[in-house]
Amino acid sequence: MPGRVLSPMFWRGLFRRFRSTVLRSEVRIVGRCRCCGNCCREIMIRCDGRWISSRRRFTRLCRDEPDYERFEITGRDEENRLMFSCTFLGRDNFCKDYDFRLPMCRAYPSKILYYQGGDLGADCGFSYKAKRFRDAWKRRKQGTLPFSQTLEQARRTQDRKDS
Ligand code: SF4
Ligand code: SF4
Repeated sequence: MPGRVLSPMFWRGLFRRFRSTVLRSEVRIVGRCRCCGNCCREIMIRCDGRWISSRRRFTRLCRDEPDYERFEITGRDEENRLMFSCTFLGRDNFCKDYDFRLPMCRAYPSKILYYQGGDLGADCGFSYKAKRFRDAWKRRKQGTLPFSQTLEQARRTQDRKDS
């Protein structure tokens, strides 16, 4: 779109996709859920490949997919995207509609979110683990030992095998 300012999140996502391709390494999701319910509060919703930033867009989404009516608008983030909370979240932090929750709820936390530049909440029990350029560089350096050290390492390995 002409004149559209691309957000830091967009660039972060682009960088992550680039890094992943260059290093041939997919992000991993580690950890486990602590059932804090924070991924159902103050969240952004994506529609047709873009984060929703207008009430009109959200109304249209609810008209096309009434399951989204469970979300209420709570405000905007620093980049003017709408934030939502789900009215189906119980006081105990469990979903009141667990068996019929939306695909985006089932997929959370997804690798797609990471490659879109998104991050998990600081309190989330899950985290993203991605290989960084500095990790690859360190490994490369370790792999280029002087010949004498390589020989020594090989000798030690052989000694261990023999003993
Ligand atoms: S439907 Fe359930 S899992 Fe999905 S946002 Fe609402 S409370 Fe959370
Ligand atoms: S924010 Fe993370 S830890 Fe909390 S309920 Fe969601 S997935 Fe679980």
